[in-house]
Amino acid sequence: MTTMTDFSRTIAAIATPPGKGGVAVIRISGADAFRVADKCFLPAYGEEPLSKRPPRSAVRGDILMDGEKIDDGLAFCFPAPHSYTGENTVEISCHGGLLITRTVLEAVLAAGASLAEAGEFTRRAYLNGTLTLTEAEAIGNLLEATNLSQIRLASRESRNRLSRTLAELHDEIVLLVSTLYANIDYPEEDLADLTNEELTARLSALSERMEALRKTYRTGRTIAAGVSTVICGRPNVGKSSLYNLLCCEDVAIVTEIAGTTRDLLERTVSLGDIPLRLCDTAGLRDTDDRVEQIGVERTRARIEESELVLAVFDSSVPLTEEDRRLIASLRGASAAVIAVLNKTDLGQADMTEVYAAFPHVVSLSAKEGNSGALAETVADLFTDGNIRVGQDAILFGVRQYAAFSRALELVNSTLSALREGIPADVAASELELALGALSESDGRAVSEEIVDSIFSHFCIGK
Ligand code: GDP
Repeated sequence: MTTMTDFSRTIAAIATPPGKGGVAVIRISGADAFRVADKCFLPAYGEEPLSKRPPRSAVRGDILMDGEKIDDGLAFCFPAPHSYTGENTVEISCHGGLLITRTVLEAVLAAGASLAEAGEFTRRAYLNGTLTLTEAEAIGNLLEATNLSQIRLASRESRNRLSRTLAELHDEIVLLVSTLYANIDYPEEDLADLTNEELTARLSALSERMEALRKTYRTGRTIAAGVSTVICGRPNVGKSSLYNLLCCEDVAIVTEIAGTTRDLLERTVSLGDIPLRLCDTAGLRDTDDRVEQIGVERTRARIEESELVLAVFDSSVPLTEEDRRLIASLRGASAAVIAVLNKTDLGQADMTEVYAAFPHVVSLSAKEGNSGALAETVADLFTDGNIRVGQDAILFGVRQYAAFSRALELVNSTLSALREGIPADVAASELELALGALSESDGRAVSEEIVDSIFSHFCIGK
C-alpha cells in the first residue's frame, strides 16, 4: 500500500481478465513507460522505435523478452497528459493465452516496470486530476454492473454530469464564502459582489438545488446497490415459483410437498430497471422439523434486515390461519411490504383482508409468468420516475451521500443563521464547513484511508 502513491515507479499490469481470449492487453504507465516499451517491443517496419511513432496509433511489432521474440502484437503510445492515467502510457495487445499474457507482462517487468497494485491506474488518474473521485467510483460501479440501468448510472455522460454538478455547487459556495469574508473585512468599502439580501437569495437557491440532488440518492442507491428482498408466505403459495419467475430460470426446486425450500437461496436479479437481492425462504411458520427451523429463523432475521418483503398469498383459495399470522407479523415492519396475490390463473377467493392490511398489492400468476405489475410497484416504491438514469446527475455512493447531506445541513443552518441576523463571520465559518463537506463528497478533500478503500475494490490492471 505504501508504494501506491510513489509516482516515480512505472507500473504495468494485465488489463484484461485472466483466461484464454482473442487478445489480451498489457498496460504500462509512468514516466518511463516509453523507455520500457521500447526495450520489449520492436516495430515490424521502419527504423523508428515505438516511442517515436505517432501517438495513439496502432504499431505492429514483435514482443521481446531479453531480446528473444516471444509474441507479436500491437502497441499504442499515449503521451501524458492525454491518457487514462494522465501519465505516459503504453498499451500492448498480445495473443490472449494465459501463459503468453503472463510472459509478456514478465518481459515488460524485466524491461524496468513494476507490477501495479489493484486499482493503481485509476488511482493515478485520480491523483493526476484526469478523473474526479466521483468518476473513479462510477467506474468501479461500471466494472461491477450486472444490469443495464447500473451501466447507465455509471456511464461517462452520467458520471460527468454528477462531477460537473458537484463542481458548480462547490464554486457557488466558494463565491458565497468569499463574499461573506469580503463583507467582514471591508464593511465600509463596497467591495462585496453581493448584498446581504442577494447573498441570502443565492444561498436559498443553492440549498434548493442541493436538496434536489440529495433526493436523487434514493434512486441512485436502489440501482447501484439493489434492494435486499425477502419472499415469504406459508407453504405452497408459490414462493419458489415466484423466485424462479424473477430469476427467469429454474434455480429453486419447485415441488408440491410443503416445506421443501429448506434453506435460503440468494441471487441478484433484475426486475425491470431494479436489481433485487433476492432471497427465497422456507417461509414464516412454526415447525418441529429441525432443518426447516433453521430456515425459518433465518427468514425472520432476513425480514428484519431487508428493505422489501414480498408476502405471497394463494389467491385461489381462502386465507388460512397461517396466512393471517403472516399478515399480523408483518404489521409495523420497517421494510416496504408488497402483498403478492399469486395463482390468479386458478380463480379468485376473497382477499379483502390482504387489501386491508397492505397498501401495495399485486396480483399475478407465477406459473403464467407476468411480473410487469410487480416491477412497476417496486419501481414506484424505490425510485423517482422523474429522474432519467444515464442523463441526470444522480448520487449513488453512500460515502458521497453522507458528506453531501452534511454539506446541505450546513448550508441550511448558515441560511437560517443569516436570516436570524447572526454575525457574518459566524455564517462564513459555517459555510466554510459546508465547503469542506462538499469537497469530501466530490473527492477533492478525502483522507488517504478513504482513497485506499475506494481503490482497493478495483482489480489489478484497472
Ligand atoms: P412454495 O412452497 O411457496 O415455495 O410454493 P411452490 O413455488 O413450490 O409452489 C407450490 C405449488 O403451486 C407448485 O405445484 C407450483 O407449481 C404451484 N404454483 C405456484 N404458482 C402458481 C401459479 O401462479 N398458478 C398455478 N396454477 N400454480 C402455481
